[in-house]
Amino acid sequence: MDLNSGMNFIHQVHGPEESRAPKVDVVIVGAGPAGLACAVELRLRGLDSLIFDKGRLLNSLSNFPTQMQFFTSPPGLEIGGLPLDSPDTRPGRAEVLNYYHRVAKHYELSIRQDERVHQIEGQDEAFTVRTTHSAYACRKVIIATGYFDIPIWLGIPGEDSNKVSHYYQDPSGLSGRAVVVIGGRNSAGTAALELNRAGVHVTLIHRGAAFTKAMKPWIREELEARIDSGEINALFSSQVRVIQSQSIIVETPGGTTTLRNDFVFALTGYKPDMGFLTEAGVGLDAAGKRPLLNAQSLESSRPGIYLAGVVAAGLHTNELNIEHAKAHARCVASNIAVADLNSQTLHQPVSVD
Ligand SMILES: Cc1cc2nc3c(=O)[nH]c(=O)nc-3n(C[C@H](O)[C@H](O)[C@H](O)COP(=O)(O)OP(=O)(O)OC[C@H]3O[C@@H](n4cnc5c(N)ncnc54)[C@H](O)[C@@H]3O)c2cc1C
Repeated sequence: MDLNSGMNFIHQVHGPEESRAPKVDVVIVGAGPAGLACAVELRLRGLDSLIFDKGRLLNSLSNFPTQMQFFTSPPGLEIGGLPLDSPDTRPGRAEVLNYYHRVAKHYELSIRQDERVHQIEGQDEAFTVRTTHSAYACRKVIIATGYFDIPIWLGIPGEDSNKVSHYYQDPSGLSGRAVVVIGGRNSAGTAALELNRAGVHVTLIHRGAAFTKAMKPWIREELEARIDSGEINALFSSQVRVIQSQSIIVETPGGTTTLRNDFVFALTGYKPDMGFLTEAGVGLDAAGKRPLLNAQSLESSRPGIYLAGVVAAGLHTNELNIEHAKAHARCVASNIAVADLNSQTLHQPVSVD
């Protein structure tokens, strides 16, 4: 499927023609589940949209662990009334990716891949969205940029070396090697288990005294069993202080220790690009952690720009999941549709007879 095929909806703007260019109703920044759900909900209300992604369609999900299973059952992931048929209550990443591609095709969504949005100029009803390729006119903008692009760095020496990754995908090439997984949540637990199954010597290092309550019980149970049996080495209340080419230095309750090490997965979370929000004119709360939004419409403090999906929670990324993104999409689309109706009513001649 050629997803860069939505030329019929694209209204590129070049210099002085800007004010006369026809407009797409809505530009959506980000082709994740939230961006797709918004486009579908807008389409169901008769509004056109154009989605941009700086990477592929479903860029974040494409980079999730290859063998992962979603925690959410199929109905929770479905959008636009299309069924996600899966034999499993926890569908795999490939199934979910295929499903969302089908949704995009079914609703003939206009998606521009590998085209990053870097600036939103103008005002409500007359925005110009500038991308790496061109500029586009639209009436409204929805920012659905997620949170997976920026890892939360530990800020320790050696973290930027090529033996460190903040993303785990699969254990290939690591069998028999000494690998450290840093983190205490589901991602770290799942990676440690999968690496261990693949014959990797895993040490899991967590700064907390125990795994977080958010860890799914089936992950925790298996992890604890393998830690008890000595298959996985675990250090709690411990922090990696330095990453060197063949070792790491860890501060543990028993003192500082050096471990032989070939590779590090620092799975310490991700955060949204708050700079993109502020550059787009979206205000943040006093702590700079949460975007300022109208709770009913999800319209931001900059009129005409809405937020949907995980980015709406700012740095509180754990508050929102794909089901929330779907609810956001319905809310944003219906608010834009109502605004559309109001503006038509205001501008149309009123019959007085
Ligand atoms: C391992 C893992 C497992 C998970 N399991 C579940 C689960 O079982 N159930 C669940 O509900 N949630 C789960 N989540 C969370 C879920 O993935 C997120 O809630 C969901 O991806 C959020 O969707 P989104 O559309 O808001 O953001 P994303 O999916 O992150 O999409 C944002 C998109 O915006 C694009 N983008 C960013 N900046 C720009 C820009 N400037 N210009 C153009 N494009 C841009 C990105 O490339 C990306 O494609 C999981 C997360 C992880 C990491």
